[in-house]
Amino acid sequence: MSEKVYKTGPDASWEELPKAGIIYEAGNSKEFKTGDWRVEKPEYHADRCIQCLFCWAYCPESAIIVKDGKVVGIDYDHCKGCGICAVECPDRAKAIQMVTE
Ligand code: SF4
Ligand code: SF4
Repeated sequence: MSEKVYKTGPDASWEELPKAGIIYEAGNSKEFKTGDWRVEKPEYHADRCIQCLFCWAYCPESAIIVKDGKVVGIDYDHCKGCGICAVECPDRAKAIQMVTE
C-alpha cells in the first residue's frame, strides 16, 4: 500500500502532481475514497433482495459488499452514487433505491 498522499482541494498545486499524472503505485484504487463524489446514495433493503447479484456484477466501483455469496451491504467509501445497481436490480425485487444524501 502506498504512503504517498497527493494534496487535493484549494491549497493543492498542479506542480505537486507526478509527471504526466502517472500513478506509480499499482492496485491503489482502494486508497481513494470516491464516495464523496455522490449526490445520491443507494439504499439496500435486505428484506426484498433475491440475491441475484446483478448489482454486484454491474457496479463499476466494486462497491457492493458480498459475503459468502450474498449481498450484505454497500461500501459507501467507494460508491459514487451512479445508480446502476438500482437500475439493474430486477423489478420483482427493487431492493436498491436511490435516495438523496
Ligand atoms: S450507485 Fe453505482 S457505484 Fe454505488 S453501489 Fe450502485 S452501482 Fe456501485
Ligand atoms: S440486484 Fe437487487 S435483488 Fe439482486 S442481489 Fe442486488 S439488491 Fe439483491
